[in-house]
Amino acid sequence: MTVLEEVLSANSAYAEAFGDKSELALPPARGFAILTCMDARLDPAKYAGLSEGDAHVIRNAGGRASDDAIRSLVISYKLLGTKEWFVIHHTNCGMEFFTDEVIRGLLANSLETAALGEAGFYDVGTGPGSAEAKYVDWLTISDQASSVLQDVGRIKAHPLVPAGIPVYGYIYDVTTGRLVEVPAAMAAGSAH
Ligand SMILES: [Zn+2]
Repeated sequence: MTVLEEVLSANSAYAEAFGDKSELALPPARGFAILTCMDARLDPAKYAGLSEGDAHVIRNAGGRASDDAIRSLVISYKLLGTKEWFVIHHTNCGMEFFTDEVIRGLLANSLETAALGEAGFYDVGTGPGSAEAKYVDWLTISDQASSVLQDVGRIKAHPLVPAGIPVYGYIYDVTTGRLVEVPAAMAAGSAH
């Protein structure tokens, strides 16, 4: 089966057993949101115990508080009533393995998938690439605790975010499945 066939087949089985999920309300029942990385090893529904309808999950590369992630969080609160937010980055994140300079160089050479070796990512594909990557802030990560603190701080300081929302900062450990608190981020994220 192709990936497309696999997904559609899994979806038919899911829809067959959909049951009373058709009755779910639009606002998240448990009133919170999680901003986390798109990494395939992370399943927020499992690591945080979510069912359909429970919470908002906003994902991007790194789980970074980009302008677009903040757009979603503001909608989550302002229109859909969430009252607590989590920022969850993780160990062994792909965003640690390159810098803006590196990805800009790779994309300038080739649009094809790069390879990851001991010394980081390198191009195996052919050109042409594009200089457009220079205009993107890739929001790479050099240290997980610092990136969580930075993102919690940015969210808390944002003019569209009310002071009363607590923002919890955690790192998910991909070797244990455990959420590990980032104390400085928890302090920065407390409601006030
Ligand atoms: Zn990641």
